[in-house]
Amino acid sequence: MHLDPIAHNARVRLPDKLAHPPRGVPEGLELEEATARALDRVGDLQQRLYADGRYGMLVVLQGRDASGKDGTIRKVFGACSPLGLHIAAFGVPSTIERGHDFLWRVHQQVPGLRYLGVFNRSHYEDVLVARVRGLVPKKVWKARYDQINAFEATLTAAGISVLKFFLHVSREEQGRRLLERLDEPEKRWKFDPGDLDDRDRWDDYTEAYEDALSRCSTPDAPWFLVPADDKRVRDYLIARTLQRALKGLDLRYPEPDYDVAECRARLLAGKGAPPEPADVAP
Ligand code: ATP
Repeated sequence: MHLDPIAHNARVRLPDKLAHPPRGVPEGLELEEATARALDRVGDLQQRLYADGRYGMLVVLQGRDASGKDGTIRKVFGACSPLGLHIAAFGVPSTIERGHDFLWRVHQQVPGLRYLGVFNRSHYEDVLVARVRGLVPKKVWKARYDQINAFEATLTAAGISVLKFFLHVSREEQGRRLLERLDEPEKRWKFDPGDLDDRDRWDDYTEAYEDALSRCSTPDAPWFLVPADDKRVRDYLIARTLQRALKGLDLRYPEPDYDVAECRARLLAGKGAPPEPADVAP
């Protein structure tokens, strides 16, 4: 099972019940094994992406506080080789960043060809927190949906696939996770009292997310709605969806531009040559 992309301009609604595991997802040991298999494949395909060199991929992770963005990076992208990974997190913009257009800092972190990039929060904050907290006038954030679509189309045209996951947690589950951060001393560093202000604005954020997901899910840069109340189901669904997207790129190991047989013979004839393996076809 994998996630389906949200249709462009679909009427997206984000009730809490969509944060619960959907029907048809494996459970228990079966879920664990299916996730392990998918992650294995993702690891292989990422290696191919790196070797192939004709494409790149950008994965955007968005979600409310404690929706599991960090956990997803650890679990799902932990299956990838760090060599071909580029992870970037976007917090409150610095003074310098605020002196530029909102895409400036983002564009610099976009992965190049052969890399798998992951954004922990992204340019979408500029139509989410900026809208909800009134950081810019309405006219400014309203224009950004089209600007974001144009930006992402530019990336796609340059060979960088864009995949966006919204980690949807219910209000109750978020409350449970925030309480855990307060109650467990080793998790307190993750708590920010400002998270409670955003929680008080739950409905405003819901509306802002609904608009972003509907207006900015395009065939080339789709949004996926991830039911994220159950962390294991979240990882499974993201891994499967990522696996499918990488597979769709038809990645190939490049043909060597040297004479394999000649190099082999030279290696075997040289000083300190390894013994010829018994099972190699002539
Ligand atoms: P968690 O989701 O686990 O709680 P976090 O993503 O909140 O962690 P932080 O670095 O503490 O991690 O928070 C980032 C903060 O930066 C968020 O409150 C987010 O809304 C804010 N932020 C990100 N981008 C922007 C932006 N463009 N304008 C204003 N605030 C932003």
